[in-house]
Amino acid sequence: MIDITLPDGTVKSFENNATPMDVAKSISEGFARNVISASFNGTTVETHTPLTTDGALVLYTWNDKEGKKAFWHSSAHILAQALEELYPGVKLSIGPAIENGFYYDVDLGDQTISDKDFKTIEDKMLEIARGKYDFSLRSVSKADALSLYKSQDNEYKVELIENLEDGTITFCDHSTFTDLCRGGHIPNTSIIKAVKVMSVAGAYWRGDEKNKQLTRVYGISFPKQKDLTEYLHLLEEAKKRDHRKLGRELELFTFSAKVGQGLPLWLPKGAALRERLEDFLKKAQKKAGYQMVVTPHIGQKELYVTSGHYEKYGADSFQPILTPNEGEEFLLKPMNCPHHCEIYNAKPFSYKELPIRYAEFGTVYRYEQSGELHGLTRVRGFTQDDAHIFCTPDQLDKEFKDVIDLVLYVFGSLGFENFKAQVSLRDPNTPEKYIGSDENWEKAEAAILNAAIDKGLDYVVETGEAAFYGPKLDFMVKDALGRNWQLGTIQVDYNLPERFDLTYKGSDNELHRPVMIHRAPFGSMERFVAILLEHTGGNFPLWLMPTQAIVLSISEKYEKYAEKVLNVLENNEIRALADNRNETIGKKIREAEMAKIPYMIIVGEQEESKNMISVRQHGGEDLGMISAVDFAEVVEKEVKKTLKTFK
Ligand SMILES: [Zn+2]
Ligand SMILES: [Zn+2]
Repeated sequence: MIDITLPDGTVKSFENNATPMDVAKSISEGFARNVISASFNGTTVETHTPLTTDGALVLYTWNDKEGKKAFWHSSAHILAQALEELYPGVKLSIGPAIENGFYYDVDLGDQTISDKDFKTIEDKMLEIARGKYDFSLRSVSKADALSLYKSQDNEYKVELIENLEDGTITFCDHSTFTDLCRGGHIPNTSIIKAVKVMSVAGAYWRGDEKNKQLTRVYGISFPKQKDLTEYLHLLEEAKKRDHRKLGRELELFTFSAKVGQGLPLWLPKGAALRERLEDFLKKAQKKAGYQMVVTPHIGQKELYVTSGHYEKYGADSFQPILTPNEGEEFLLKPMNCPHHCEIYNAKPFSYKELPIRYAEFGTVYRYEQSGELHGLTRVRGFTQDDAHIFCTPDQLDKEFKDVIDLVLYVFGSLGFENFKAQVSLRDPNTPEKYIGSDENWEKAEAAILNAAIDKGLDYVVETGEAAFYGPKLDFMVKDALGRNWQLGTIQVDYNLPERFDLTYKGSDNELHRPVMIHRAPFGSMERFVAILLEHTGGNFPLWLMPTQAIVLSISEKYEKYAEKVLNVLENNEIRALADNRNETIGKKIREAEMAKIPYMIIVGEQEESKNMISVRQHGGEDLGMISAVDFAEVVEKEVKKTLKTFK
């Protein structure tokens, strides 16, 4: 008999050679039907692998990341088989599961695949899937593995196998198809009910442009047709909400090849939006005891050698700026922290004055590879909503909680309601990898965990994920399309205070090292605006909207009245415009809808004679005829729904 421990801690005994599927069935037949993959003692196994020792078993369904991985990995085998059948002589190379689906890189010889062929490939894949073939893994000797692929003239698999050790090589068979594979499959092909070939692209063998260019076929598959339909719908939605598209349509930002790749240019409306976000955070930060500082965009190379950033960013980033003075070198700043450390060093501090909190919307520069650049989410120059807190080890607990409050306030005000936190701790088995005393690490880790619990966060702990200089807490937000984004990091740091020799005088009159906290609720203004655009589709919370209302006159006759209404709105601190062009009201409404202006105020004869306005909301809902003052109240109420006062 063997003892199998399940994730909830229960231990069950099974006959030797019981399989993960047997274990699943012992839980319930219904559950077993949904189990598609498994891991045993942390290693991926097949659902029919006989278990021969005691150990910990995790069973995965489609709802688990691991389950999806097995599903898509298995689908890649089927794609490869379909391609072999449809394109005789095709040579397979590699075909992994990816975040959304899978791909296979193939050498088609002189054949090609285009959009027109996708349906044929999908049909072939479904035909194979319906055959209900089991996936079975078998060990092969290196010699046998090589001889199979040499006989197929497949230099790619031969190269892969040559780099493997004899005794570790396995093949996976299903139907008439065999592939080199390490395992991790769903029980059989019939679980795959829907497939879609998404695209084809060129890909160099092993990612090296000196090698031959292969054809990469991207696909995705699902256990239900409904899931595929939903996925395709989400993709469409994501396209509509692409921040690059919305940024252009709403005239928020642009890029210029002349200025340079990855260097965003904020247009007036974008700059106003950004300013509003900054003011919002500045106001909350002021209440939370932060002081604004300003530092230059460059610093002496020596500064970043001291901080360690030169070692990290130096070679792969912007190179030093030279001056007429020989030997003098400056760097574009990759981080604000070194500057803030030197601000702290400008005068001595006593423990009574701590914590000190310096905040800056500091622009930093990092050289991202051109292939990595993407709209506002990956740029070469960006502004962090940065702050550094210098405190005593005993103050860490409270400071950390206060930072969490601020981050949650930011999320709440911007409509991110769905988020998780990740607490990254050090690996206690390798203390030599971390700097700082054990005592301080224990204090900091306890402070973060306490804060997470105290604030009721939904969090996971990742042991061994801490930076070498301190533990941290990251927030992951889920957007309206269910995609996860990392936002808001709070990081404890023992390293920089050491490197910059930061001190404070303690109650014992001795000098001590402060602890430093880095934090940025938005992360960067660029990335945050991008995520906010994709989350809201450009319909920001009302308090943030560049234009909250637009007055549309039905004809020129009502221009004067429209101006009067505009005046009332402006006096009530509503950001409004008037559209008095000689255009039809229908056209004016359409354009205001396109610009996503939340309220359209229509004024004509009736409105003027009654001294009222007709209000239409973005999306079509009518609020009827009300007075401008009543409307101002509606706006104020709506603003307060998301924008609360901090503390
Ligand atoms: Zn496989
Ligand atoms: Zn920092």
